[in-house]
Amino acid sequence: MITDPKPAARRLARPPLSLQSSVQYLRGAGPALAARVRALGLMQVQDLLFHLPLRYEDRRRFTPLAALADDGEALIRARVEHTEVRYTPRRNLRVALRDPGSGSGTGPGAGGNHWLLLRFFYFNEAQAKAFAPGAWVRAYGPVRQGASGLEMIHPEYRLAADPAELVPEAALTPVYPAAAGVTQTRLRGLIQQALDLAAGDPAFGAALPGLPGPETLAALRLIHQPQGDADAARLLAGTHPAQQRLIREELLAHQLCMRVLRRQVRTRPAPALRGAAAAAKELEGALPFRYTGAQQRVLAEVARDLDGATPMLRLVQGDVGSGKTVVAAAAMLAAARAGQQSALMAPTELLAEQHALNLTRWLEPLGIATCLLTGSQKKAQRELAHKAIADGRAQVVIGTHAVFQESVRFARLALVVIDEQHRFGVQQRLALRDKGPDGSSPHQLVMTATPIPRTLAQTIYADLDVSVIDELPPGRKPVTTVAVSNERRPEVLARIGAACAQGRQAYWVCTLIEESDQLEAQAAEETARQLRAELPQLNVGLVHGRLTPVEKDAQMQAFKNGQTQLLVATTVIEVGVDVPNASIMIVDNAERLGLAQLHQLRGRVGRGAVESQCVLMYQPPLSDAARHRLEVMRTTQDGFKIAQCDLELRGPGEILGRRQTGLIGLKMADPVRDSALIPPLQALADDWLQQHPPLAAALIRRWVGDVEKYGQV
Ligand code: ADP
Ligand code: MG
Repeated sequence: MITDPKPAARRLARPPLSLQSSVQYLRGAGPALAARVRALGLMQVQDLLFHLPLRYEDRRRFTPLAALADDGEALIRARVEHTEVRYTPRRNLRVALRDPGSGSGTGPGAGGNHWLLLRFFYFNEAQAKAFAPGAWVRAYGPVRQGASGLEMIHPEYRLAADPAELVPEAALTPVYPAAAGVTQTRLRGLIQQALDLAAGDPAFGAALPGLPGPETLAALRLIHQPQGDADAARLLAGTHPAQQRLIREELLAHQLCMRVLRRQVRTRPAPALRGAAAAAKELEGALPFRYTGAQQRVLAEVARDLDGATPMLRLVQGDVGSGKTVVAAAAMLAAARAGQQSALMAPTELLAEQHALNLTRWLEPLGIATCLLTGSQKKAQRELAHKAIADGRAQVVIGTHAVFQESVRFARLALVVIDEQHRFGVQQRLALRDKGPDGSSPHQLVMTATPIPRTLAQTIYADLDVSVIDELPPGRKPVTTVAVSNERRPEVLARIGAACAQGRQAYWVCTLIEESDQLEAQAAEETARQLRAELPQLNVGLVHGRLTPVEKDAQMQAFKNGQTQLLVATTVIEVGVDVPNASIMIVDNAERLGLAQLHQLRGRVGRGAVESQCVLMYQPPLSDAARHRLEVMRTTQDGFKIAQCDLELRGPGEILGRRQTGLIGLKMADPVRDSALIPPLQALADDWLQQHPPLAAALIRRWVGDVEKYGQV
């Protein structure tokens, strides 16, 4: 926890800066910036070292406008010829650039490719004004074929009166996951300081037995600050030895950690929850449906685990909509019937709230007291929840990370359910062990929709037993999926209008390329405004990541009970939102999303009795990869098949830009892509635990976090 030191304390001598210091003590940082980078999971200086680039941009040379093609990103330098604001159909700023050294032409579309159009949908007057004719522009962004020639939409740009002020970069530019109020430049500056500090730490330069490649520090340097032209191609492809080294380190740390975790958890007893099978029956009696065969099988596996005095460590894998929540509910009911408490943790407030609604609806009639705990609750409300949890009145607790906080004390916690595991790291699971009553460890049930083959799941979740729900509830109608160009937007609008007139509901998902909550929220707001104008007969709701939890909740409630018919959303609705009456899903700019994300989004519809549709709207022209992705979505709905295609389409070399697919909190490794590396590292992990326990502890600490307090390696 980072706290702002009192002014008096600040005057006292501060311990020398180390890799374990809080980020706020770095040059140019401070409590405010530290709070903002905390949103990225960066607390200590060392965390910055492992905040790795998502991708690189090559801004090392200017591409002459005449040589541009719509096949990727480019850096250009040119002069503003003409600037205007048009409404085609959306308000947009258009800046026509011309390469002065390239002969003449009479306008965009004429005179060959010596022209480029910059287009902005989000801009202010000052920005528009700055693009005065004659000004020089350096711009970097994706080039695509527009209606009147090549264009760049929302490029990053700089303006100058003198072209000499606009020069290319000397090396590849790393692009980091960013948060509101933390620029790339800021991050680079902080990471530079972290690298300097790491240079003084011998552990970062040491060779590690069994791991090839450059030592940790050298690898980190290369990845954060690639020099000149060195191995740029391999870095961009993600196959550089420095990247491979860190991937192996991380996978090894992960294997080590899971071995330690399982051993640690299993040395403690858990309260035996007899009667789990009876609880499952009892719950079924109260549900409006019967369990599927797959649910029954998994419930039996869970019941067998709960019956024992060793903590359950079980992963339940099941595609979106396969009905994992009832499995959790049955286990939680079993705990309550045994006089114990259970907790369910969700990755977002939205999901926690939704689970709370469902569980309360199912369990309260059976006499079970539920309780919601989230970080955004008012203090008084939270204190009430804390009390009910501490004295045992709250039998079933639902929450977000707030449940992990040390201030939360359970009277007798016997079971922890973690939903959508990939958003929870091993770190959080480690913290759970201490939440049971003295000397015992709660049972753990982890639920994930990440479709990976069972054998691989057993490797990745080496500390968990795996159950699979491989059947969807009956009566699900397949979701008809179509891909349409956004030129057909009017048709899509008409379809939404007609469907809503028949009492149906629809999602409209906005996607942006930028890794920014703020821009995404802006885009969603803009889209909602436009849709309200285009479909005045509908009530249009809006959810995005910048709303307060109370606002978000109000929006979701309004959609759930039908007050709004069309819900405009950012990808925050990706995981787990359940509104069975919603039967149309529009994904705007679907070409920007990966298969895993598209599959998750589509899983929001097709949950009710009526035929559902998913409209993947794209901005033409499509790249080959995007066309292929949309084709996969159109032709299959099987999560495992989609995951397999995803892997094939991404190709084994691609390692960057995987923020959305990150499994189990890994920063760099992708267990699916890197699966071939895992078996030898499993053997190495066993070897290290025997031969080099201190090294193992250090590597876990480096990659996973401070596990010291969870016991000896
Ligand atoms: P997920 O596995 O994606 O978390 P949920 O648990 O949210 O899926 O279930 C999706 C929907 O299916 C919910 O509305 C749930 O009530 C319903 N459901 C779950 N099991 C069954 C079943 N056996 N028969 C019918 N509907 C079910
Ligand atoms: Mg779910």
